[in-house]
Amino acid sequence: MTAEKCAHVMCVFTGICLLALTVQSFPVQTAETGGDAVRAEAPRVALTFDDGPDALCTARLLDGLKERQIPATFFIQGKCIEGQEDLILRMYQEGHLIGNHTYDHVKLTSVSDQDAVRQVIKTSNAIYEITGEYPTYIRPPFGEWRDDLDCHVEMIPVLWSLDSRDWVLQDTDQVVSRVLESVEDGDIILLHDIFETSVDAALEIADTLLEEGYEFVTVEDMIIE
Ligand SMILES: [Zn+2]
Repeated sequence: MTAEKCAHVMCVFTGICLLALTVQSFPVQTAETGGDAVRAEAPRVALTFDDGPDALCTARLLDGLKERQIPATFFIQGKCIEGQEDLILRMYQEGHLIGNHTYDHVKLTSVSDQDAVRQVIKTSNAIYEITGEYPTYIRPPFGEWRDDLDCHVEMIPVLWSLDSRDWVLQDTDQVVSRVLESVEDGDIILLHDIFETSVDAALEIADTLLEEGYEFVTVEDMIIE
């Protein structure tokens, strides 16, 4: 992925050099083109939220994301879906990526093959009932995926690169500091949309990173590009 990115950068800059040679009489245009190239390579992060949806927290988070026009990824628990169908439809319609977080938040490595498959499929089916689309990505609870499930469920496991530890800290300022101190281009940030403090922290983190020129993407866009 890094090699492709580098190749792309080289390409872009080679293009600029050629352009600069051919439009020497318009130095201002050349400078602007250079500015565009820098913006195209903006650092990117993916905010991910596990364990929801929660009627209050998730709704407030969606409001905040909409206001900032940034996408996120939600790994939802099947058992939390009933009664929150409108919220899930809203996530989907507002451009967020919806992933699977098992039905009962089980450690997939600690249950039988049959139960593990049931946990995943039951959740995917419930999401499909609402959005009309089966989720492609799964975040296994506790980060414990089983490769042998690949033959039974076609899902791509996604972990994280930056753990906000929001579920332990439950303190907005501490979560914000922890993330902003170590965030880097390409990070997949783990948060939970079941705590008010996490929602506040996520939106504060978003504001700061937007000011710093970061682009927000879903995990799909982060993984594919
Ligand atoms: Zn979880």
